[in-house]
Amino acid sequence: MNLDKQQAQELIDFIHESPSTYHAVNNIRKELNEAGFQELDLREEWTLEKGGKYFTTKNGSALFAFVIGKGEIEEEGFQLICAHSDAPGFKIKPNPEIAVEGNYLKLNTEVYGGPILRTWMDRPLSIAGRVSVKSNDPLNPEHLYVKIDRPLMVIPNLAIHMNREVNEGGALNKQKDMLPLLAMITDEMEKDNCLVNLMAEELKIDAEAIIDFDINLFEVEKGCILGLNEEFISAPKLDDLAMSHAGLKALLASGESKKTRMLAIFDNEEVGSLTKQGAGSPVLRHLLQRIVFKLGKDMEAFHRAVYNSFMISADMAHAVHPNGTEKHDPTNRPYINKGPVIKIHANQKYTTDGDSGTVFETLCKNADIPYQKFVNRSDLVGGSTLGNVSTGQVDIRTVDIGNPMFAMHSVRETGGVKDNVYIRKVFTSFFGL
Ligand SMILES: [Zn+2]
Repeated sequence: MNLDKQQAQELIDFIHESPSTYHAVNNIRKELNEAGFQELDLREEWTLEKGGKYFTTKNGSALFAFVIGKGEIEEEGFQLICAHSDAPGFKIKPNPEIAVEGNYLKLNTEVYGGPILRTWMDRPLSIAGRVSVKSNDPLNPEHLYVKIDRPLMVIPNLAIHMNREVNEGGALNKQKDMLPLLAMITDEMEKDNCLVNLMAEELKIDAEAIIDFDINLFEVEKGCILGLNEEFISAPKLDDLAMSHAGLKALLASGESKKTRMLAIFDNEEVGSLTKQGAGSPVLRHLLQRIVFKLGKDMEAFHRAVYNSFMISADMAHAVHPNGTEKHDPTNRPYINKGPVIKIHANQKYTTDGDSGTVFETLCKNADIPYQKFVNRSDLVGGSTLGNVSTGQVDIRTVDIGNPMFAMHSVRETGGVKDNVYIRKVFTSFFGL
């Protein structure tokens, strides 16, 4: 297998093993542990050393990994890459079992973020996430991670004969049309506790021990490389696991440096980032402060470090669509496999400006990779991302970038094999500064 395909396959494998934010963070944790990074608990006292490699997690769904530089932190600052662990989809509601006419058992769900609803239909789905169980300390329940590795449910479409408008773009009702079918009801089934029983069985614990859960649906089928020349990656959640994965690989590949490098993987970007583990919380600022103070420096040193820092806010971008070329800006036209995309927005939904854009362009040139630019059509409203939210908490020079892709927020997204190689290259050279 050539290097391009091998790196694409690494990403596809990582996404397949990461059907929830908790699993994504756990998989990153595993790789960091293997690479000799020391895990720090936010609640314990830390001891940090220059040249040391550390990481910590928050809520099990956000992760911050850093390598402390050999230089003076107030002069060298932080080199940051941030991305997000979450993706739009469906969360299972409490008391989810709904019996239909005594025959079907379906589950009640709530939409998380903004998925393209129709893409979730007629696909084998399963469940993954975090289960909270009783412990001796009422303030600290035990958390277990569950992932059921088999096709378990489906959200069936109505036949076209019963829904003649289906191809005219008829709306889907989130409460009525999008509930997954789990089973045919049988006499032996404890149908009111079906889901908890299933998770307890999977975890080999008593069902009564499960107090609560944060469980989402995921598509069971694994991603793949496709295209005549194997140039595309088809996978769920490229937004934003592709950037999280590339950031991880770059951090693992980075050697000694004067600068302190950090990978920040936030949760809850898809719902506005304003959670304790999201980019809108003070978590990143607190971590940066803690690192500076633990190196024996003061508040002024922290401020100097911040103003000597640079952040790459990495979240996927839109490629010109082969069937929707008119949806793009007339002069800025990013394509798949033509390099990472610098995202620009005059009204600053993206943090990029001439200064930070120049930094990223220079990084790309030095890494010998192509790059492109994205600006919304002026009559279309685009999305937002991590950069500007995070800057509200800590005022670091930031650029918003991401790899070009199709079908953002579909259950199955499409990106480029080459772009995955390019982004790893530029991230690695950024962390190698
Ligand atoms: Zn995103």
